[in-house]
Amino acid sequence: MRLILFGPPGVGKGTQAKILSGKLKIPQISTGDLLREAVAQNTELGVQAKSIIDAGQLVSDNIMIGIIRDVLKSEKCKTGFILDGFPRTIPQAEGLSLLLAQLGLKIDYVISLEVDESEIIRRLGNRLSCNRCGKIHNIEPDKTAYLSICSVCGGELLYRDDDKPETVLKRLQIYVQSTAPVKEFYRKTGLLKTVNAQGSIEEVTRDIFASMNHK
Ligand code: AMP
Repeated sequence: MRLILFGPPGVGKGTQAKILSGKLKIPQISTGDLLREAVAQNTELGVQAKSIIDAGQLVSDNIMIGIIRDVLKSEKCKTGFILDGFPRTIPQAEGLSLLLAQLGLKIDYVISLEVDESEIIRRLGNRLSCNRCGKIHNIEPDKTAYLSICSVCGGELLYRDDDKPETVLKRLQIYVQSTAPVKEFYRKTGLLKTVNAQGSIEEVTRDIFASMNHK
């Protein structure tokens, strides 16, 4: 199974990708996580990407397509994959189509997760991520003081630098300008499934599976 999870920042792509990855036994390929790892390890890519990510901007299409090319050719993607956060622009979507054609592979579904903009802003303001295992924890602002340790691995819970309110607005603006057109790109291919992501995590997972069963 080869899936693309599509949607604005904060819609729950990462959360759902991890669940689907466990249930379908295929890897989650999160370009945001790959970039954050490169930043943490201070690689050449990480040094280049850090200021771009912190400003809420997009890393260049050539760099992103290069990263995805390496990952999709790797052993771990042999049985399938879930792309989370890629493609984010039309050139990335075109680059992916070319790459898949070269590798003789096809995407099965593009799942677009959809919520209201006000809900996105609320969710991004309420999320902390573990600096060790990466799990996203949702908190109510007034409970922040009590939630500083990851319940899964005991790591430290931190706000992502790019979840600051002014950066969130920039990311949403870029989403509308550069990423939203990718949805139309996939609608034309007939692969697109839209799923309302306003409900609970369990409801959204159920609706994703339902959307894949109804061609
Ligand atoms: P995410 O964790 O998916 O929200 O990604 C965090 C940040 O990484 C984004 O705001 C971008 O700066 C960068 N990034 C992740 N994926 C891509 C992509 N496909 N194209 C360009 N930049 C990306």
